[in-house]
Amino acid sequence: MTVVFWNKKIQGASAEELRKLQLRLLKRQVKRVYENSAFYRRKFKEAGVRPSQIKSLEDVAKLPFTSREELEANFHEVLAVPMSNVATIRMTSGTTGRPLRIAHTKHDVEMVAEASARKLTYHGVRKEDIVQVTASYGLWQGAWSVHWGAEKIGACIIPIGPGDTERQILMIKQLGTTVLYAVTNYHFRILEVAKALGESLRNYNLRIGICVAEKPSKEQISMLEKGFGYEKVAIDYGATEFPGFSVHCEEERDFHHVWADYYLVEVVDPETRELLGEGERGELVITSLQREAFPLIRYLSRDITDYVGFKKCACGMSHPKVGVDIDRTDFMAKIRGVIVYPGHVEAILSGFPGLTGRCQIIVDKRTPKQEATLKVEMSKVPSEVVQKSVKEKLIEEVKNRVGVTFNEVIFVPNGSFEGKFRKTIVIT
Ligand SMILES: [Zn+2]
Repeated sequence: MTVVFWNKKIQGASAEELRKLQLRLLKRQVKRVYENSAFYRRKFKEAGVRPSQIKSLEDVAKLPFTSREELEANFHEVLAVPMSNVATIRMTSGTTGRPLRIAHTKHDVEMVAEASARKLTYHGVRKEDIVQVTASYGLWQGAWSVHWGAEKIGACIIPIGPGDTERQILMIKQLGTTVLYAVTNYHFRILEVAKALGESLRNYNLRIGICVAEKPSKEQISMLEKGFGYEKVAIDYGATEFPGFSVHCEEERDFHHVWADYYLVEVVDPETRELLGEGERGELVITSLQREAFPLIRYLSRDITDYVGFKKCACGMSHPKVGVDIDRTDFMAKIRGVIVYPGHVEAILSGFPGLTGRCQIIVDKRTPKQEATLKVEMSKVPSEVVQKSVKEKLIEEVKNRVGVTFNEVIFVPNGSFEGKFRKTIVIT
């Protein structure tokens, strides 16, 4: 397969060239942040580190970590440009009762557009394409990134946003949409509504589907390919805090390439914060290398994944990679000393027929043995005999693959875990 590069110089750069570029950008960014952001200057001073101490890429580990709570609490102090240079603001719900606000200069917006243009071109989107953006506009970043990128490559954009599914289907039919950008679940909602209307979306011009927010399973991807007639389904990974972050590798589908000129990544143990090596799962730590308004220095992303450093990939790029199986530390549960992510359990559930793949983990730390319960959602109600055998197999499978024995498995009806349910509940 040959992929097309939007920016040949950067996307085709060798591992060595990228390492050199990254070091130059890191030194410049650390200096700029130290000089212009009161928040980072204070943190660097407290940690006893000066910009001149950054001499290699590995020296990034000398810098202090930044938490999401700190960014929420210190918006104006983090800013590394005067407010008059801020072009736009994005916001996401906070964890401390305060929203997380992210500022961008015009140049920051241009970098997100560039990263997005690289991504879309790489996935096969061209000037001739019609891109229907069903993600939310407003203060959330998702829709804007793809919008800016599609605009840059000169494609036609339908900025419809979410909802009104019948109208979405009408647009696909009447305007000949070729690329659909949607939250994974919303892709399935569109299929459901089309089916109810007696429409087959395969009959129209759709060729590329981009799934955002949740990673679809392999089975779900083939359902989308069949249902929409897609030639390709790509997964989009990013967050409001780090827009224009990565691109889903066209050859090694288990990885995203991280744009090395925009972001430097490390992976650390989520508890001890000790640096982990390639292939080890831990918390993704992100440093933005060129952002002007709201820089991230060793930002603890709360996302759990693994990474591969600079190495030429079969797709032709040497930008570092992070795994597509991403868990959230927010959902992490520790059961009798073993760390468990709902994502691991969900991966096991997808192998069982009759289950939706969604689950909830409940740990009761008040009991001496820390009783753990797994609630799993059923797509249809099976007989009691089937439930009993699924229950036993499931407990065994989770024990073998995750290393934890659940004391109880409870089946709940489809729809119990809709919306923002808590994937992990720890009773203390
Ligand atoms: Zn690749």
